[in-house]
Amino acid sequence: MGTLQLEVVTPDKTVVSAEVEMVVCPGVEGEFGVLPQHVSLLSALKIGDLRYRVNGKDENVFISGGFADVNNNVLSVLAESAELAGDIDAARAQAAKERAEKRLAAHDESVDQTRAEAALQRAVTRLQVAQLR
Ligand code: ATP
Repeated sequence: MGTLQLEVVTPDKTVVSAEVEMVVCPGVEGEFGVLPQHVSLLSALKIGDLRYRVNGKDENVFISGGFADVNNNVLSVLAESAELAGDIDAARAQAAKERAEKRLAAHDESVDQTRAEAALQRAVTRLQVAQLR
Protein backbone atom coordinates (compact mmCIF):
# COMPACT_ATOMS: atom_id res chain seq x y z
CA MET A 1 0.00 0.00 0.00
CA GLY A 2 3.01 2.31 0.45
CA THR A 3 3.62 5.32 2.64
CA LEU A 4 3.61 9.10 2.51
CA GLN A 5 5.84 11.61 4.29
CA LEU A 6 4.18 13.62 7.07
CA GLU A 7 5.71 16.87 8.33
CA VAL A 8 3.98 18.79 11.13
CA VAL A 9 5.78 22.06 11.79
CA THR A 10 5.19 25.13 13.96
CA PRO A 11 7.15 28.40 14.04
CA ASP A 12 9.25 26.87 16.86
CA LYS A 13 9.92 23.31 15.78
CA THR A 14 9.17 20.20 13.77
CA VAL A 15 6.68 18.15 15.77
CA VAL A 16 6.39 15.17 13.39
CA SER A 17 8.62 14.09 10.53
CA ALA A 18 7.73 10.52 9.64
CA GLU A 19 6.87 8.06 6.92
CA VAL A 20 3.27 7.11 7.60
CA GLU A 21 0.54 4.89 6.21
CA MET A 22 -2.31 7.38 6.45
CA VAL A 23 -3.34 10.67 8.04
CA VAL A 24 -6.72 12.06 9.12
CA CYS A 25 -6.75 15.87 9.31
CA PRO A 26 -9.25 18.18 11.07
CA GLY A 27 -10.28 20.25 8.05
CA VAL A 28 -12.39 23.37 8.56
CA GLU A 29 -15.15 21.63 6.63
CA GLY A 30 -14.75 18.29 8.37
CA GLU A 31 -12.17 15.56 8.76
CA PHE A 32 -10.44 14.26 5.66
CA GLY A 33 -8.09 11.37 5.11
CA VAL A 34 -4.84 11.44 3.16
CA LEU A 35 -3.47 8.17 1.80
CA PRO A 36 -0.22 7.58 -0.12
CA GLN A 37 -0.21 9.04 -3.66
CA HIS A 38 -3.03 11.48 -2.83
CA VAL A 39 -3.73 14.20 -5.39
CA SER A 40 -2.38 17.70 -4.63
CA LEU A 41 -4.47 19.55 -2.08
CA LEU A 42 -4.39 22.69 0.06
CA SER A 43 -6.80 22.91 2.98
CA ALA A 44 -7.32 25.09 6.04
CA LEU A 45 -7.41 23.19 9.32
CA LYS A 46 -9.31 23.90 12.50
CA ILE A 47 -8.30 23.34 16.12
CA GLY A 48 -8.39 19.57 16.46
CA ASP A 49 -6.82 16.15 16.52
CA LEU A 50 -4.60 15.03 13.65
CA ARG A 51 -4.27 11.24 13.53
CA TYR A 52 -1.65 9.28 11.66
CA ARG A 53 -0.74 5.61 11.37
CA VAL A 54 2.73 4.08 11.50
CA ASN A 55 3.18 0.28 11.39
CA GLY A 56 -0.55 -0.13 12.00
CA LYS A 57 -0.43 1.99 15.19
CA ASP A 58 -2.32 5.29 15.48
CA GLU A 59 -0.72 8.42 16.92
CA ASN A 60 -2.58 11.62 17.81
CA VAL A 61 -1.35 15.20 17.57
CA PHE A 62 -3.11 18.32 18.82
CA ILE A 63 -3.00 21.14 16.27
CA SER A 64 -4.22 24.69 16.79
CA GLY A 65 -5.52 25.05 13.22
CA GLY A 66 -3.34 25.96 10.26
CA PHE A 67 -2.88 24.59 6.76
CA ALA A 68 -2.35 21.19 5.17
CA ASP A 69 -0.55 20.97 1.85
CA VAL A 70 -0.28 17.71 -0.09
CA ASN A 71 2.24 17.56 -2.91
CA ASN A 72 4.38 14.77 -4.38
CA ASN A 73 3.42 12.31 -1.62
CA VAL A 74 4.38 14.78 1.16
CA LEU A 75 1.75 16.15 3.56
CA SER A 76 3.00 19.34 5.21
CA VAL A 77 0.99 20.69 8.11
CA LEU A 78 1.81 24.24 9.23
CA ALA A 79 0.29 25.13 12.60
CA GLU A 80 0.75 27.95 15.10
CA SER A 81 1.13 25.27 17.80
CA ALA A 82 1.09 21.46 17.86
CA GLU A 83 1.90 18.76 20.40
CA LEU A 84 2.03 14.97 20.29
CA ALA A 85 -0.65 13.55 22.61
CA GLY A 86 2.05 12.33 25.01
CA ASP A 87 3.62 15.80 25.25
CA ILE A 88 0.44 17.61 26.28
CA ASP A 89 0.53 19.01 29.80
CA ALA A 90 -3.04 18.28 30.95
CA ALA A 91 -2.75 20.42 34.09
CA ARG A 92 -1.72 23.41 31.97
CA ALA A 93 -4.62 22.81 29.57
CA GLN A 94 -7.03 22.50 32.51
CA ALA A 95 -5.78 25.83 33.91
CA ALA A 96 -6.13 27.46 30.47
CA LYS A 97 -9.69 26.07 30.20
CA GLU A 98 -10.68 27.53 33.59
CA ARG A 99 -9.10 30.89 32.74
CA ALA A 100 -10.99 31.08 29.45
CA GLU A 101 -14.27 30.03 31.08
CA LYS A 102 -13.91 32.76 33.73
CA ARG A 103 -13.21 35.38 31.06
CA LEU A 104 -16.22 34.32 29.03
CA ALA A 105 -18.50 34.22 32.09
CA ALA A 106 -17.48 37.73 33.20
CA HIS A 107 -19.21 39.43 30.23
CA ASP A 108 -16.59 42.12 30.59
CA GLU A 109 -16.38 44.47 27.61
CA SER A 110 -12.60 44.55 27.83
CA VAL A 111 -12.50 40.79 27.16
CA ASP A 112 -11.99 39.78 23.55
CA GLN A 113 -14.72 37.12 23.28
CA THR A 114 -13.41 35.56 20.07
CA ARG A 115 -9.95 35.21 21.55
CA ALA A 116 -11.30 33.71 24.79
CA GLU A 117 -13.45 31.25 22.82
CA ALA A 118 -10.46 30.14 20.75
CA ALA A 119 -8.37 29.69 23.94
CA LEU A 120 -11.19 27.59 25.43
CA GLN A 121 -11.42 25.51 22.26
CA ARG A 122 -7.66 24.85 22.32
CA ALA A 123 -7.74 23.85 25.99
CA VAL A 124 -10.75 21.51 25.64
CA THR A 125 -9.24 19.88 22.55
CA ARG A 126 -5.83 19.45 24.23
CA LEU A 127 -7.56 17.67 27.13
CA GLN A 128 -9.37 15.37 24.65
CA VAL A 129 -6.21 14.57 22.68
CA ALA A 130 -4.21 14.00 25.89
CA GLN A 131 -6.72 11.25 26.79
CA LEU A 132 -5.81 9.40 23.57
CA ARG A 133 -2.16 8.84 24.46
P1 ATP B 1 -1.70 28.60 27.50
O1 ATP B 1 -2.69 29.65 27.93
O2 ATP B 1 -1.56 27.47 28.48
O3 ATP B 1 -0.37 29.17 27.03
P2 ATP B 1 -2.51 28.52 24.74
O4 ATP B 1 -3.59 27.77 24.07
O5 ATP B 1 -2.63 30.00 24.77
O6 ATP B 1 -2.35 27.91 26.21
P3 ATP B 1 -0.69 28.27 22.57
O7 ATP B 1 -0.59 29.71 22.21
O8 ATP B 1 -1.52 27.38 21.71
O9 ATP B 1 -1.11 28.12 24.11
O10 ATP B 1 0.79 27.62 22.62
C1 ATP B 1 1.93 28.32 23.12
C2 ATP B 1 3.07 27.31 23.25
O11 ATP B 1 2.84 26.49 24.41
C3 ATP B 1 3.18 26.34 22.09
O12 ATP B 1 4.53 26.01 21.90
C4 ATP B 1 2.40 25.12 22.56
O13 ATP B 1 2.87 23.93 21.94
C5 ATP B 1 2.69 25.12 24.05
N1 ATP B 1 1.55 24.60 24.86
C6 ATP B 1 0.41 25.26 25.17
N2 ATP B 1 -0.38 24.52 25.97
C7 ATP B 1 0.27 23.35 26.16
C8 ATP B 1 -0.03 22.15 26.91
N3 ATP B 1 -1.16 22.03 27.62
N4 ATP B 1 0.89 21.15 26.88
C9 ATP B 1 2.03 21.28 26.19
N5 ATP B 1 2.38 22.36 25.47
C10 ATP B 1 1.51 23.40 25.46
